[in-house]
Amino acid sequence: MRRQLVAGNWKMNGSLVANAALLAEIKAGMASAVCDVALCVPAPYLAQCQAELAGTAIALGSQDVSAHAAGAYTGEVAVSMLQDFACRYAIVGHSERRAYHGETDEAVAQKALRAVQAGVTPIVCVGETLSEREAGQTDAVVGRQLQAVLDVLDAAQVDKMVVAYEPVWAIGTGKTATPQMAQDVHLALRAKLAGKNSAAAAEVKILYGGSMKPDNAVELLAMADIDGGLIGGAALKAADFLAIAAAA
Ligand code: 13P
Repeated sequence: MRRQLVAGNWKMNGSLVANAALLAEIKAGMASAVCDVALCVPAPYLAQCQAELAGTAIALGSQDVSAHAAGAYTGEVAVSMLQDFACRYAIVGHSERRAYHGETDEAVAQKALRAVQAGVTPIVCVGETLSEREAGQTDAVVGRQLQAVLDVLDAAQVDKMVVAYEPVWAIGTGKTATPQMAQDVHLALRAKLAGKNSAAAAEVKILYGGSMKPDNAVELLAMADIDGGLIGGAALKAADFLAIAAAA
């Protein structure tokens, strides 16, 4: 049985003051061990969030990680640095990084590999654009994105990652995939994972992301292959984030 994971992706939002208030509310409202919960915060706030989350069941994550171990890579953050702040997760291949920073499937795969090798769980994001969905290419696109990661991992490493299906047209738009639309893609992704390691495929959490809110979370999270959520906008409101975690 897969335990559900609800992960907040704060994206480029927050400040020391705002984070302290948000974390205080989340900590106060989080029922114990409802599901696995993580917060993926901007790198400058890792120290603050590590301190605030110490002693809680809420895990810390980053929104990206370098494919390189260390060296002359200005602006990048190494996985060893994330580990200095006890990060358990690193989002890789978010569609915003693919779209605005030109990250290729291969670059994303190298980041995922670097995280896995270090013992940090990558949350590998995949998702199709609206035009790709309308052209009937959804399974081909997300399958290609996931396969690039599977190509660089050993079969024994498959269960060391989390996958997040985030249809690009649903991110920040208020449009959500219907539970059945999402379930269909999640099932295809799990079949792709099984092609590399069938036992691991049953263990890998596949999260849904894209305008997940308290009022649609229950239905989405009830689907057989939806193992949690990657939450953007709603993760910035404690009440909404707590309601989604409670639905998992
Ligand atoms: P929204 O929940 O704001 O649509 O963002 C989803 C997302 O991109 C999480 O990574």
